[in-house]
Amino acid sequence: MVTVKAGRFQRFGKLHSFPPPERWDDWAELDAKAWPKRVERRYKLIPTVCFNCEAACGLLAYIDQKTGEIRKLEGHPLHPASRGRNCGKGPATLTQVKNPDRILYPLKRTGARGEGKWTRVSWDEALDDIAARIRKALQEGRRDEVIYHVGRPGEDLYTERVLMAWGVDGHNSHTNVCSSGARVGYATWMGIDRPAPDHPNARFILLMSSHLESGHYFNPHAQRIIEAKERGAKIAVIDTRLSNTANKADYWLSPWPGTEAALLLAIANVLIQNDWFDREFVRKWVNWDELLEDQEYLQFMVKEGWIGEADLPKATTFDAFVRLLKALYRPFTPEWAAEESGVRADVLVKIAEEIRRAGSAFSSHIWRNAAAGHRGGWMIARALFFLNVLSGSVATPGGTIPNAYVKFVPKPFSDPHGNVRVWSTIQFPDEFPLAYFEMSFMLPHLLKDKNKRFEVYFTRVVNPVWTFTDGFSWIEMLTDPNRVGLHVALTPTWNETAQYADYVLPMGLAPERHDLFSYETHAAQWIGFRQPVLRVLKEKEGQKVTFTYEANPGEVWEENEFWIELSWRIDPDGKLGIRKYFESPYRPGEKITIEAYYRWIFENSVPGLPEAAAKEGLTPMEYMRKYGVFTVTEDVYREYEKPVPEDVLKDARIIPDREAAMKEGAASGTAAADPKALPLDVTLPGVRPGVWTKTPPPKVNFRPYPGPFKNEHGEVRVGIVVDGKPVQGFPTPSGKLEFFSTTLKDWKWPEYAIPFYPRNKEERKKYFHIVSHVHPDFIDREKNEFDLLPTFRIPTLIHSRTNGAKWLYEISHTNPVWMNPVDAERLGVKTGSLVKVESEIGYFIDKVWVTEGIRPGVIAVSHHLGRWRLHEDHGSDRWNSALVRLEKEGSRWRMVRLKGVTPWASDDPDTSRIWWEEAGVHQNLIIPVQPDPISGMMCWHVKVRVERVDDPSRYGEVVVDTEKSFQVYKRWLGYTRPAPGPRGERRPYWMLRPLKPHPDAYRWQPQR
Ligand code: SF4
Repeated sequence: MVTVKAGRFQRFGKLHSFPPPERWDDWAELDAKAWPKRVERRYKLIPTVCFNCEAACGLLAYIDQKTGEIRKLEGHPLHPASRGRNCGKGPATLTQVKNPDRILYPLKRTGARGEGKWTRVSWDEALDDIAARIRKALQEGRRDEVIYHVGRPGEDLYTERVLMAWGVDGHNSHTNVCSSGARVGYATWMGIDRPAPDHPNARFILLMSSHLESGHYFNPHAQRIIEAKERGAKIAVIDTRLSNTANKADYWLSPWPGTEAALLLAIANVLIQNDWFDREFVRKWVNWDELLEDQEYLQFMVKEGWIGEADLPKATTFDAFVRLLKALYRPFTPEWAAEESGVRADVLVKIAEEIRRAGSAFSSHIWRNAAAGHRGGWMIARALFFLNVLSGSVATPGGTIPNAYVKFVPKPFSDPHGNVRVWSTIQFPDEFPLAYFEMSFMLPHLLKDKNKRFEVYFTRVVNPVWTFTDGFSWIEMLTDPNRVGLHVALTPTWNETAQYADYVLPMGLAPERHDLFSYETHAAQWIGFRQPVLRVLKEKEGQKVTFTYEANPGEVWEENEFWIELSWRIDPDGKLGIRKYFESPYRPGEKITIEAYYRWIFENSVPGLPEAAAKEGLTPMEYMRKYGVFTVTEDVYREYEKPVPEDVLKDARIIPDREAAMKEGAASGTAAADPKALPLDVTLPGVRPGVWTKTPPPKVNFRPYPGPFKNEHGEVRVGIVVDGKPVQGFPTPSGKLEFFSTTLKDWKWPEYAIPFYPRNKEERKKYFHIVSHVHPDFIDREKNEFDLLPTFRIPTLIHSRTNGAKWLYEISHTNPVWMNPVDAERLGVKTGSLVKVESEIGYFIDKVWVTEGIRPGVIAVSHHLGRWRLHEDHGSDRWNSALVRLEKEGSRWRMVRLKGVTPWASDDPDTSRIWWEEAGVHQNLIIPVQPDPISGMMCWHVKVRVERVDDPSRYGEVVVDTEKSFQVYKRWLGYTRPAPGPRGERRPYWMLRPLKPHPDAYRWQPQR
């Protein structure tokens, strides 16, 4: 196999020209707007971090020294991930800062929810009111009634720490509408649930995403993919839609949506049958021995007809495993996959050849795309990573790295882990014990179904009424005081959900707040420091700033200060045990400031930072204020094969293999202990192979990392033994990559414990949990039924967050229905015609765009558009939203579009220059909740019927019946296999969970 050295092509990354940091305090340049006059402006340049997608690219704020205002935001040249480059959304942050429609003061509702009546209140009033409610809920033991629902997290651990300090199981995320499918696919292989492809060093790149225009960590990845391409790497894109990324690829594979696992397993099969896989890597790092020793499971494979009796392994050797592998996947031929997916067999063989050529320099990535679209989408991600496993390209230069290897999360000054002793069955219902993570998109149905309520519900950079599916059910929930006691919307901009809140509290944009980031953008661990740049400027000028809002526009707070203030008011005397987590480590008993919070982290928790700062004569805090970024390490490859450190080994017990473990277990009698009687954080009961210690080294990096893997003697597994050497291994129950997932088997899903796809119609019925709900079996094209592909991003917008960015909405303001010419002809429509797109619960009416960029039988509509507001002057920004009226009759809702985007008068002359009228169509309203029974992923694709509409006034009309959507929810719930697990637990304790409760909370109890 071929290996490529890291860093070989780093020369591509550098910018040629940029302001050097030593001149950031006084940077002069000509004012482009004053041209042709030569007018010099002098700036102070202060780094911060973009907030307009998850990539966290660096920005430099250019602050005019005369006026003290931010005049532009450009790329941060020293940022290791973005390297001075940004997409259009980064610089456009400026238009959000100056948006005349932004929220500048705390608002409290005075009319009915959604009525649009608000009064300005003081921060004190809002904080006291919210704190009193939370305090009461905590005192009354209602610790599952305080919910923080987050769309885009500010930083890892900050708010989780707040919630843990409060002792509430109250973290709720957007993960299930985004990435649960991919996460389960990866987690069932390697424990770690995200990929971090090392694109710049790859020879072959396989993308199931559109990274050149919008995929996850888009800009940092896009520039590295192009670097790889420039030096000769080949790119393949699997995407039903012709994305801009597919357009630049060497291979574009456009399968029927949801059949991707079939074609990926066919590629795997070509590698296996031809012995084009890395035998040594698979032998050392895959848990094949567990499979061969599980006679019961081998018999199960025979019973299911996957292998014949004759294929049963005769020995527990690696060669026997390879023979089994060949027998198992033999039917998965390229011709079979071509029939299933619609992608030509010879193309699949070519992709296999490319992977073989790339060897360990083969990078792949899936995030959203098919993994987020279909029932069984998680198996697509599992099948994709199988190709990395076979090619030995796991955490190699040019391969795909587990994200935890390239992520650094520093320890804060105090750690309330273990404080949460309750389990919220609304966030993690029994039906979804393996979900990654909270079942957020089903909240309205769950609350109704289980008759629950929230006392306080925070929404934070999340807009479920619009971004999630089935928005009318959300409106029903948000307007029902029996479900939601108090809704607090923490948001920089208006959005559809905030319209129904009780408080709307303005929060800072990218240059108005602190956050600390570390993301999987490339092969390094780095931290980026988002800063409120006007506050930093004041401090540079010697002014004292206590709170960031003193420097921000209006009374815009930064969220991290908000949580400190709120926590202090919930527990003013410290009797609830909360206040201590918000007391300064420098001034005991006094409230911590945000400056002290980060100062402590930089001084104590980031290896190498104090030394790097000292070299420049700076404190760690001054260093981060100056540069806004620090690379912790670039030593990130093949962490699994790194030796267990000597100082850990000296107190460790080594059990080399299963034979030794069995002998020891029999001798000590431990093997006979009843695992059900053990605490649930004993994740590996009995005697198991591995390197075990009672004194594991203290954690330095608080990255999301599965485990711990503990036994009943209080020993923690700190490594595994491979070929006689104690090495770190993977954070899975076996310590290896899990071709055979014992977790899936033990949790009632044995038929999906190995990478698999049904081979014929009968098997599709039998194994329907991994068959897409929009498989051609279920679509009758004669009846004008289609699969609606609603998941793709456009490069210039990002969900709700780009609200108020006028430059971006001038570029993009429509989301038409992509339709193949074959289908358009059959329906009698052309570009610009109206069509009614009708799902099981309702319909929308939108314009058509006829294009060969989509397969016949599939239509596609981008999200990010179709913004709407109920009130003339607020509810969503006027740059991009239609004014609508909502009508309701029983459970039937109707949205009537009153007018599109129109000019208005404001201090910004551009508001009167608006030339566009369209705002797009809110497609997500007609998509019912469709939770994948294993991963909990919202399966976004939906079967629809399409017909022509001839009345142009109906553009933007949406009709939905929420009773029907509740029935769909019930039907999908019926596909699940609920907790408890084999030891009476709610969820495997080793698996990741954003806010991990105390092990006692994992003990399953019947739901009330
Ligand atoms: S990719 Fe664009 S929107 Fe995302 S962080 Fe970078 S500059 Fe901002």
